[in-house]
Amino acid sequence: MTPAKTQPERMFGVVVVGVGRAGSVRIRDLQSPQLPPSPLKLIGFVSRRELGNINEAKQISLQDALSSAEVDVAYICSENVSHEEYIRLFLNAGKHVLVEYPMALSLASAQELWKIAEEKGKILHEEHIELLTEDYAFLKNEVAGKQLLEGSVYFTGGPLEEERFGFLAFSSIARLSRLVSLFGELAFISATMEEQKENQYLKMTANLETVDKRPLTWIEERGPGLKREWHINFLFDSDRLESIPPPTQGHKNIFLRDQEIFVKKLLGQMSTEDLAKEKKHILHCLGIADEIQKHCQHLKKEGSSAGAEGTV
Ligand code: NAD
Repeated sequence: MTPAKTQPERMFGVVVVGVGRAGSVRIRDLQSPQLPPSPLKLIGFVSRRELGNINEAKQISLQDALSSAEVDVAYICSENVSHEEYIRLFLNAGKHVLVEYPMALSLASAQELWKIAEEKGKILHEEHIELLTEDYAFLKNEVAGKQLLEGSVYFTGGPLEEERFGFLAFSSIARLSRLVSLFGELAFISATMEEQKENQYLKMTANLETVDKRPLTWIEERGPGLKREWHINFLFDSDRLESIPPPTQGHKNIFLRDQEIFVKKLLGQMSTEDLAKEKKHILHCLGIADEIQKHCQHLKKEGSSAGAEGTV
C-alpha cells in the first residue's frame, strides 16, 4: 500500500454558485482544513446578490467563473430551477460539476446533461446527503435481509415554492432516493396532488410498487407551520418498523462526506461499476418524479376541463 501523501498531487479550483443554506455550508467546508489535505481550493463564489467577500473567498462574475483557467469545478447550490442551465454552462466550459439535488426538473434534461458530461469527459455529481445520515444508516441496517410486505413514508415540512424549487416530487427527491436505496427500483402506479395555492399548501400522494409488487406509498405534505418530520411505517414478513431513533450526532458533516465522494470521482478512485450504479439510481428516481408530475398535471387538466364542462 502507498503511504498517505501529505500534499495532494494536483489541486482543483472550485467556484460555488448560489450562497443560500447549502452554498454557505459548501463554502465553510471548502475553507476548513481537511485531513488528509483536500485537493479542492475555493477560488470564489457566484451570487446574484452583492455579497463582497466571505472570509477569504471573493465574489466573482459568472462569466469569470466560466472562463477562468483557475476554476476546474463548479458547485451548483442555487435554487433548483436554475440547476440545469448552470450545469450546461459549466460542463460546456470544460468544468466538472457538483450539483445539489435535483440536477434537473425532468428526466429528459438529466439524461441530456449526463450526455454532455460524458462527451466532455467531466464529472457530474449529484449530491445525495439523505443517504449519508445516521437515520438512513439505521434504516438500511433494519431493512437488511427482510421482505417488505407494504410500506409508507409520510413527510411534512414548510412550503417549497414550485417557482423556485420545481414540482414537489423533484424538490423532495430525497425521500424517493431513500426508498429506492432501501427497497430497489420502484414502479409508478398513481399519484394525486392536493393544492391550496393561497395557503402555500401542497399534499402529494404517490403510490409506488416494488419489483415484488409490494405497495409503497410516499406522502409529502408542505405548508406554513408544518414541522419538518418524517414518519415511516414498514411492514416486513418478520416485524413492523414505525420509528427511527433520533440521531445522536445530528446531521454532522454530511455535505463534507458528499464532497469526499465527489473528490473520489475527480481522482478516478471510484469504480466504473459504482459510477454506473449511481447514475442509474439518480436517473431512476428522476424518472419516477417525472411520471408523478405528468400524472398530476394530467389529473389537473382533466379536473379543470371537467370543471369547465360543468359550468356550460
Ligand atoms: P436557499 O433558498 O437557502 O438558497 C438558494 C440560494 O441560491 C439563495 O441564496 C439564492 O439567492 C440563490 N440563487 C437562486 N437562484 C440563483 C441564481 N440563478 N444564481 C445564483 N444564485 C441563485 O436554498 P438551499 O436550501 O440552500 O437549497 C439550495 C439547493 O440545495 C437546492 O437545490 C436544494 O434542493 C439543495 N439542497 C439543500 C439542502 C439543505 O439542507 N438546505 C439539502 C440538500 C439539498
